[in-house]
Amino acid sequence: MIDKHFLQQLQQLVALPSVSCTDPKIDQGNLAVIELLATWFSHIGFSCEIMPISAGKANLIATLGSGSGGLVLAGHTDTVPCDAQLWTSDPFKVSERHGKLYGLGIADMKGFFPAAFNAAQAFSKSKLQAPLIIIATCDEESSMAGAKALVEAGKPKARFAVIGEPTSLKPIRLHKGVMMERVTIMGHSGHSSDPSLGNNALDAMTLVMGELMAFRAEMQQKYHHPAFTIPYPTLNLGCIHGGDNPNRICGQCELQFDLRPLPDMNMDDIRQQIGQRLKRIALQQHIQIDYEPIFEGTPPAETPANSPFVKMVERLTQSEAGSVAFGTEAPYFRQLGMDTVILGAGSIETAHQPNEYLPISNISPLLLWLKQLIHHYCVLGHAA
Ligand SMILES: [Zn+2]
Repeated sequence: MIDKHFLQQLQQLVALPSVSCTDPKIDQGNLAVIELLATWFSHIGFSCEIMPISAGKANLIATLGSGSGGLVLAGHTDTVPCDAQLWTSDPFKVSERHGKLYGLGIADMKGFFPAAFNAAQAFSKSKLQAPLIIIATCDEESSMAGAKALVEAGKPKARFAVIGEPTSLKPIRLHKGVMMERVTIMGHSGHSSDPSLGNNALDAMTLVMGELMAFRAEMQQKYHHPAFTIPYPTLNLGCIHGGDNPNRICGQCELQFDLRPLPDMNMDDIRQQIGQRLKRIALQQHIQIDYEPIFEGTPPAETPANSPFVKMVERLTQSEAGSVAFGTEAPYFRQLGMDTVILGAGSIETAHQPNEYLPISNISPLLLWLKQLIHHYCVLGHAA
């Protein structure tokens, strides 16, 4: 059975569209969701700060209690776009079928907020030794602008964070980074019968691809992390576009690739190394090679296996903390100095697709664990 108030809150959140997308035509704000959450949490005694990020977009920092240390329960309020015609029910209305609640963003991850609210409400009259902080961000699905703004502002300050991304109730303490990059080569076109009339961008691109594959092999020699199913960094040559006709020297060619660094790798270093290697080819070939990220990238993140917080969450959930293949806001909470575990009731397999759902039976275990964490870290104020 699902609590009526929980269901109402979930319905309110799902009904407020907050799609974030790199395409400005589809992109929406999240302010209505943030304002709704602020109303809920101020009602139970939290002090709420709405942090404006851009037009119609904001973060919420809701704090109960004060002092050093403390626990953050964090989530993003935006969703990916949806194809409403492929859904069995209205994506903006919560619909219950066969023990599951359906709705856009219900697993990823609006469903976390009623859970955080319910858990917090149980302690709204308690005296807290350390603060309980609810964080709701914008733009996780597009630019991570919300989480980046938190790092820039240096808040919240706390020791521990739970991010409620969908993990099917399994605690997660690390993930790889995500980088997507573009290499563009500008050569000179000309008649194919005389190579001296041009400078072939495709010829140069084969050198670039060879260099990237050599770089990949070196990275995979050097870096290894046994906590991942794929225990090495990957580099995938994803697509290539260049030239137009067999009898023309190819004047321009573009390659896009994806790189997934391990937690002990630095994205800036990687970009610098690749840049240097490509510069060498450009000089050799007397050709222009431009290299740039397609988006800034999501850094990798890891909270050590021996962190007392990880141990605590493992004890509660009776599961060993593992890794996931998707990026989250965890690296930003790490930068703010928090031991961070990702733990949520939804499943990543249903996220970002039609008929996204939350299994009702996963809600009460999550609620119980959140209450136990709040009791340990905020009511008792333990620092470990
Ligand atoms: Zn998410």
